[in-house]
Amino acid sequence: MTPPIRVTVWNEYRHEKKNPKIAEIYPEGIHGAIAAHLRAQGMTVRTATLDEPEHGLTESVLAETDVLVWWGHIAHNEVSNEIVDRVQARVLEGMGLIVLHSGHFSRIFKRLMGTSCDLKWREMGEKERVWVVEPGHPIAEGLDTYFEVPQSEMYGERFDIPAPDTLVFVSWFQGGEIFRSGCCFHRGSGKIFYFSPGHETHPIYHQPEILRVIANAARWAAPVAGPKIRFGNVPQPML
Ligand code: ZN
Repeated sequence: MTPPIRVTVWNEYRHEKKNPKIAEIYPEGIHGAIAAHLRAQGMTVRTATLDEPEHGLTESVLAETDVLVWWGHIAHNEVSNEIVDRVQARVLEGMGLIVLHSGHFSRIFKRLMGTSCDLKWREMGEKERVWVVEPGHPIAEGLDTYFEVPQSEMYGERFDIPAPDTLVFVSWFQGGEIFRSGCCFHRGSGKIFYFSPGHETHPIYHQPEILRVIANAARWAAPVAGPKIRFGNVPQPML
């Protein structure tokens, strides 16, 4: 039996402390809601937040993390260089990274993408229809042709990211915009998945399809026991 996937759910955890309406939606924080679902899926889950020492992402926590889930919004600039460097190094080594919603502007995502990661947005609570455009992909497992988020923040193209290795979801919004809402990337030995639904004032991380996507993504992004990478000059093998 393969051991359970070890997930760390990271949240800046500021909105929930400042805004009682958001705290009502997420009494245990956004990280708490996501962690509870992943635990129910049999994963080994810990949480980490910005205000903990080293943002909760110590060397030992990251060494024991197969997949890191990232939610941030108003405090991206408070994430230290040292931790961004550390997370990037772990991704290149093979740790999976799932970046959610406003995490498109996180320092770690921008570092790994190398572009501005900017986009259009509108906060009106409009309907979002998330289309599965790669139905054979493991992240789409168990989903229908599309699902809807009844009230969402609009994120629209142009989304300034490098072309994804695989695009799994495209969203349509009531206002007419579209958005590449589920994007897969490889960096080094690591896999990265960006998933856009998740505005903090709507109960999006309680919605079954959304939680299913995050769990599917954690399974997809978990490291593979591949060959050890060797660079530089190598002796000729025996002929
Ligand atoms: Zn938002």
